[in-house]
Amino acid sequence: MSLASVIRSEHELLLPTYVRQKVLFEKGRGVFLWDTRGYPYLDFLSGIGVNALGHRHPAIQRALRRQASRLIHVSNLFFHPYQAELARRLTKISGLDRAFFANSGTEAWEGALKLARAYARTLSTNGHRPKWRILALDHSFHGRTMGSLATTGHAKYRDPFGPLVPGVSFVRFNDVEDLKRHFDTSVCAVCLETIQGEGGIRPLDAGFLRAARELTKASGALLLLDEIQCGLGRTGRYFAYQHYKVEPDIVTLAKPLAAGLPLGAILATRRVANAIDPGMHGTTFGGGPLVCRVAIEFLRVLAGLLDHVGEVGGYFREKLEGLKGRSGAVVEVRGMGLMLGMELNSADLAQQVVAQLLRRRILINRTSETVLRFLPPYIVQKKHVDQVIRALSEVLPTTGRKPGVARQISLRRSHS
Ligand code: PLP
Repeated sequence: MSLASVIRSEHELLLPTYVRQKVLFEKGRGVFLWDTRGYPYLDFLSGIGVNALGHRHPAIQRALRRQASRLIHVSNLFFHPYQAELARRLTKISGLDRAFFANSGTEAWEGALKLARAYARTLSTNGHRPKWRILALDHSFHGRTMGSLATTGHAKYRDPFGPLVPGVSFVRFNDVEDLKRHFDTSVCAVCLETIQGEGGIRPLDAGFLRAARELTKASGALLLLDEIQCGLGRTGRYFAYQHYKVEPDIVTLAKPLAAGLPLGAILATRRVANAIDPGMHGTTFGGGPLVCRVAIEFLRVLAGLLDHVGEVGGYFREKLEGLKGRSGAVVEVRGMGLMLGMELNSADLAQQVVAQLLRRRILINRTSETVLRFLPPYIVQKKHVDQVIRALSEVLPTTGRKPGVARQISLRRSHS
């Protein structure tokens, strides 16, 4: 099947939700993907942070094959051996007490919001003033379902679908005074991505996260951290909040958890988890034996990779900072570990850089219009970083000359 025929069929048959890059992939191995013509591509996006062990990792393949040959699904009406085992490992590394398994990031986040509201109701039945308001951040992204959208701080995602879940207010990013202005005893949850992903790879300031923790703790509200993109080793620690030494009440996870299979999770303290009774929340697919078995294997492999993520991430960041020194188009380099972003001074330029890298068979993407996003697999080596840096230095305009992308943009404009 050719790329052209797939494009034609999708155009006729699918909801037009995605703007895809024009490449047809058929297999992967390690940090590389191959298209149907047999060309390899260096994958510095990992399926948006999902394929954290790269493609066809032997341990994941083995776990998948073994479990697929035994049992794939039983529903949550019955027991199987792997949900509790996965929960045991996640609670141990996170410092939280209880887990719930969902199928995606947005579903985990929806469940976290429900849990926060359910917990708040247990307080108000004890004679406290009702807590129901939710504070989220400008530029945040928590997913595409109604509750997640309601807490997503981009009007362009929210506006076509209103009215959404009521009771949400948005606080300016990293602005402690604005947080205090919005906060009162009616707030049941403060919702934060420890590092905003879709919002442009923006880590929270330690002072802001600490203020959110102190305010919520003092009033009996909950601190919800969305670590769907930044958690599970991406920053060189199991969780990004562990860099800040802050203890959240609820954490959500998804993307890399089952190394490419769909699995999300909510982790919560015992106190919060006690607000849920049987029947209040659930899912048909979530936490099946196949995904849980694979996730256990992912966590086993991850334990040996955390230092590597920190080391290669530090090397990558240093090299990106070096490019900033050479190109006036680079505004800022941000992020932690292998979650890095490079903000450019123009959205057009960022789009062109992504296209130019694709032409050189390197996969990255652009987020928040002007930010180049790098989410390579945790198994990436310094030599792969060097390859990306070389490509970037070819396409970014250098101060004083106008090669690569800069020239192409001006040519394109003069023809239009
Ligand atoms: N939360 C964060 C921080 C995300 O980055 C994403 C997806 O990019 C989501 C939630 C939604 O996850 P999903 O696309 O699996 O529903």
